[in-house]
Amino acid sequence: MLEIKNLHAKVEGKAILKGVDLTINDGEVHVLMGPNGSGKSTLSNVLVGNPKYEVTEGSISFNGKDLLAMKPEDRAHEGIFMSFQAPTEIPGVSMTNFMRAAVNAKRTYFGQEPMSASDFLKLLREKRKLVGLDAHFMGRGVNEGFSGGERKRNEIFQMAVLEPTFSILDETDSGLDVDALRIVAEGFNQLRTEKTSAMVITHYQRMLDYLKPDFVHVLVNGRVVRSGSAQLGYDIEEKGFEWIIEEAEKQ
Ligand code: ADP
Ligand code: MG
Ligand code: MG
Repeated sequence: MLEIKNLHAKVEGKAILKGVDLTINDGEVHVLMGPNGSGKSTLSNVLVGNPKYEVTEGSISFNGKDLLAMKPEDRAHEGIFMSFQAPTEIPGVSMTNFMRAAVNAKRTYFGQEPMSASDFLKLLREKRKLVGLDAHFMGRGVNEGFSGGERKRNEIFQMAVLEPTFSILDETDSGLDVDALRIVAEGFNQLRTEKTSAMVITHYQRMLDYLKPDFVHVLVNGRVVRSGSAQLGYDIEEKGFEWIIEEAEKQ
């Protein structure tokens, strides 16, 4: 599904990614770990095409297409979804209208008619229930007055509605209490299929417990220095990153 080769990227003129190689196949969940500032969010931003992040070298292929040649909105239509570390508020735009615009933009991209109002409301209701988001949130501005947990739950809700093939969760779990974390993780798990994949950035062992990722990668100083099974995540929880950084420096 996703093949990242020798990816280098700059932010504000500073080199952050320094040769990332990563392949994610259909149906796989990959967890990305690494010390603060190692470039995890930068990689996420490059994948969705945030214009602040400049790719200077390397390639990304997504389902056989050159991802870097695609506009950010087309990447979304092609099935890439990112949930943010700090979701933003869009006051004055109701959740319902926001989601309708997103759903219909994707349909237009694929040459389909907009969804009928009744079908759309049915879809919203069904997905809302999946993540336990109360109906009254649909009339509010996007994330307006949402608590931290509600914002995160809202992101899984958006993911459920948009049905991406590749999802990026960038610390969607940070700041969640144990119940909210479980709801987000279980909601996410319900959306998993043999055809969908994800890259999940997390620091939490509990998230590993819930997600049972196929692979864990460690990003240090803009490169993937180690990859392994979920066990690698538990080893990091126990021993920290230092031993991995030391071994990477020896190479
Ligand atoms: P991580 O997510 O692994 O904690 P980031 O990718 O957020 O790391 O950050 C990597 C480096 O890039 C940091 O030094 C950070 O300050 C810098 N950086 C990331 N995004 C921006 C930005 N929009 N503007 C300026 N610097 C940035
Ligand atoms: Mg960070
Ligand atoms: Mg980050």
